[in-house]
Amino acid sequence: MKGRLALHTCCAPCATYVNRFFEKEGLAVVNVFYNPNIHPVDEYERRRITLESYIAQIGGELRIPFPYDPREFFALSLDLAKRCRLCYALRLRRVAQWAREQGFSAFSTTLTISPYQDVVGILEVGEQIGKEMGIPFIGVDFRSGFPESVRMAKEFNLYRQKYCGCIMSYWEGVKKRIWKSLTGQGFSSL
Ligand code: SF4
Repeated sequence: MKGRLALHTCCAPCATYVNRFFEKEGLAVVNVFYNPNIHPVDEYERRRITLESYIAQIGGELRIPFPYDPREFFALSLDLAKRCRLCYALRLRRVAQWAREQGFSAFSTTLTISPYQDVVGILEVGEQIGKEMGIPFIGVDFRSGFPESVRMAKEFNLYRQKYCGCIMSYWEGVKKRIWKSLTGQGFSSL
């Protein structure tokens, strides 16, 4: 593979392995941080600053083309069953559009490294948006690289968040931790 890749980047820990992967593939990676789903704003800032610091350490490239505006996320349907696909589409569509305007060869995302995400959903959404926008989506299931990304995040002393980003995911994480502290057991259906 050759060319310039606009890599939608959710956070520094996920960026570690994925940047290394695409660079080994010969692509010139530009990380694009666009995540209006992250709440509250100080959490958004913490993830942004951590990513900026990491990308500077590895001599990579980072763009933040859009200011933080959580209303873009709030405008989505709050249907709990559909919210993640809508959230993926919001972020990937904006990055794909920007990447096409800037003359990139393709776009991708770090989101598929997380075993907590709907990876099949992300790949389907990315593929569909690539067709809509007329720019190739490079969809890779990175989940096998997750342990290595955790190791790299520790090596670089990166902040690792405890929830995906939105207030619902925060609430779900709190419920899981409370349940575990009360019962000593985890549970997966919230
Ligand atoms: S859980 Fe994560 S992917 Fe799903 S809506 Fe919330 S922030 Fe977006």
